[in-house]
Amino acid sequence: MSQNPVFIPGPTNIPDRIRKACDIATIDHRSPKFARLFGPAIAGVKAVLRTEAGEVILFPATGTAGWEAAIQNTLSPGDTVLAARHGMFSHRWIDLCRRHGLDVLQIDAPWGEAAPAEAFEAALAEDREGRIKAVLVTHNETATGVRSDVAGVRRAMDRAGHGALLMVDGVSSIGSMEFRMDDWGIDIAVTGSQKGFMLPPGLAILGVSPKALKAMEGARMARTFFDFADMRASYARGGYPYTPAVGLIAGLAEACEMIAEEGLENVIARHHRIAEGVRRAVAAWGLRPCAMRPEICSDTVTAVVVPEGFDGTRVATLAAEKYDVALGVGLGDVAGKVFRIGHLGALTEVMMLSGLATAEMAMADLGFPVRLGSGVAAAQDYYRGAKEAARLAAE
Ligand SMILES: *Cc1c(COP(=O)(O)O)cnc(C)c1O
Repeated sequence: MSQNPVFIPGPTNIPDRIRKACDIATIDHRSPKFARLFGPAIAGVKAVLRTEAGEVILFPATGTAGWEAAIQNTLSPGDTVLAARHGMFSHRWIDLCRRHGLDVLQIDAPWGEAAPAEAFEAALAEDREGRIKAVLVTHNETATGVRSDVAGVRRAMDRAGHGALLMVDGVSSIGSMEFRMDDWGIDIAVTGSQKGFMLPPGLAILGVSPKALKAMEGARMARTFFDFADMRASYARGGYPYTPAVGLIAGLAEACEMIAEEGLENVIARHHRIAEGVRRAVAAWGLRPCAMRPEICSDTVTAVVVPEGFDGTRVATLAAEKYDVALGVGLGDVAGKVFRIGHLGALTEVMMLSGLATAEMAMADLGFPVRLGSGVAAAQDYYRGAKEAARLAAE
């Protein structure tokens, strides 16, 4: 039987080209063969992060480990970090910081809102002794489908004249949404292989600025596996301090090549188009996204608020059991209140229509007041025009 695409915000669909690239015979990672594989992967990630000043570090791990590596390498126990809690992923990053003995200055925002740059600015302006060592931003809250304005947070930090590090979780945005590490003054950018890079899970991918590397000197948090210094010393010799995920690194080079072939701008535009079609569908269903304002809607995931008296989790469960299609469930504070449609990675408009059609069938099966075909038709209408505009622009 054929395999349906998944419509979850990670892990994402893996193109055949990338699957094949990951499938390599064993090589000695201390040989020059490995260095030949590794170099293009690192260069490719730098291009996707839009950084020239930063360094790329890859751990055999996942995005969560990226958060851990970011704080372990740059901070000391008892340090203060500033973060907003406005979804499950920002919540979990805060939890991870607390478990490492950091003092988290937590700003609560509604789930469905973005990280509040104004509240950050006020907290930073008040911090005259410079207690805050890092500002944490979840660029794309995957639980609620909300994009935060990282450039706006950077401007807020600059206006407050604060020297804290800016750490950004870009796990569900990097490689699919606009992300500018250097322009936005990001000190540590974190992602994982199984989202925008379209790979199997297993790599934590980090971009680290010169300022973050400098902060390592005074950082007293314990670190071994995630030590940036060990990594950099080995990288300088074309190797690794331990066994790297060689197959995934080979796949990562291929993924970066695919992104470069399509053009990063075009990849971002494709995600925006696909997402806009999903939003039209949600409106046609008479439903609304969890994201509270149009300008903060994510281009990689849409959390759909279900009508009062219905259970969003059942939409995803039914879609999986009856139609063999993966949709996302609601997490944390919005569990049951939403279901999520992931639309990132290796996806086309035509694939997306099948995901929308499946969501409609599942909702109809559960007695939602949603007319079959209504969302699909709204997306079709949008895609017809948007594809034509993209075609003309490419000519
Ligand atoms: C998926 C995700 C994570 C967690 O990444 P893992 O690779 O599962 O550890 C963290 N943050 C965001 C925003 C995510 O979407």
